[in-house]
Amino acid sequence: MKTRIILPDTDGISEAGAILRSGGLVAFPTETVYGLGANALDTVATKRIYEAKGRPSDNPMIVHVASIDMLNGVASGVTDAQKAIMSKLWPGPITFVLHKNPAVPDVTTGGLDTVAVRWPSRREAAEIIVAAGVPIAAPSANLSGKPSPTTFEDVAEDMDGRIDAIVKGEQTVIGIESTVLDLTSDVPTILRPGFITKSRIEEVVGGEVKYDPSLFQKPDSDDFHPKSPGMKYKHYAPKADVKIVEGDKAAVHEAIAKLSAEAVARGIKTAVLDYEGKGDEAAVRYFANLRQLDRDGVDVIYIASYDWDEVGFSVMNRMVKSAGYDILEV
Ligand code: AMP
Ligand code: MG
Repeated sequence: MKTRIILPDTDGISEAGAILRSGGLVAFPTETVYGLGANALDTVATKRIYEAKGRPSDNPMIVHVASIDMLNGVASGVTDAQKAIMSKLWPGPITFVLHKNPAVPDVTTGGLDTVAVRWPSRREAAEIIVAAGVPIAAPSANLSGKPSPTTFEDVAEDMDGRIDAIVKGEQTVIGIESTVLDLTSDVPTILRPGFITKSRIEEVVGGEVKYDPSLFQKPDSDDFHPKSPGMKYKHYAPKADVKIVEGDKAAVHEAIAKLSAEAVARGIKTAVLDYEGKGDEAAVRYFANLRQLDRDGVDVIYIASYDWDEVGFSVMNRMVKSAGYDILEV
């Protein structure tokens, strides 16, 4: 298949919308990462997303909307309390799990009776959804398992020849996927941490917000039953081996210097990622850094971990998965 490259000008946006409306696959930038979109109400189109990504079909997709009407077309029984929370955080990098409208096919939601919905804030994304006129199922536009794409080049690397079109925009400004918040449980529950943090959600909710306990468990433990099916899968893995070195700053630096020197002596090419605990910066750069280090042929990546701030917790969630839970405490 020939993949068209579309620019996000007026003509490009309407072309992207038309391809989506007629059942095609289009990758486009959102504020978080690039998404791979298809008409969420079209069973054949959404099945093609799983094929293009090589994604397990029980891993449900986020449905992207750009109006309240579209939200009502994919969710059902949305309460005033839920609406009040959504209106304070949307459009933006947060996804809400709600009761599903029967119009949404099982292939989009992985057979669940809930649906994950997001109203993105990035101009190109919102305009493409409006141009399509239908809600858009859009997981990250990477091959399943690989780091999420934050640049046009990253998307092209994974998707060229597999999808109908890629909308070429600038690098994404947040860099990690949306926070996923379950609003169907008694206490709103974070299923995936993101740029919108627990304390920000608590401010908006005006009450308790929980983390899904599976966020703190290894997938191979017996009591690991995540509410978000995607959390089961291998994720964010570059070709290089990733190792996290955790402790106080001086000890982490000393340990990484020693490990790198030993590796280099054995002819292993190493790299160090140290974001100095600045979560926002780490979020913007982490996935792009992983992909670049793969292009550079690096064998082992050491990640320095100390003093993370709030968004840092969300980035660390991805880092721990990239590392396959290989964490060295020093
Ligand atoms: P991605 O499409 O790569 O951004 O991943 C979407 C995430 O949202 C995955 O972790 C999914 O498991 C999660 N998700 C999607 N729909 C639901 C749902 N109805 N309930 C819980 N988690 C969901
Ligand atoms: Mg993804």
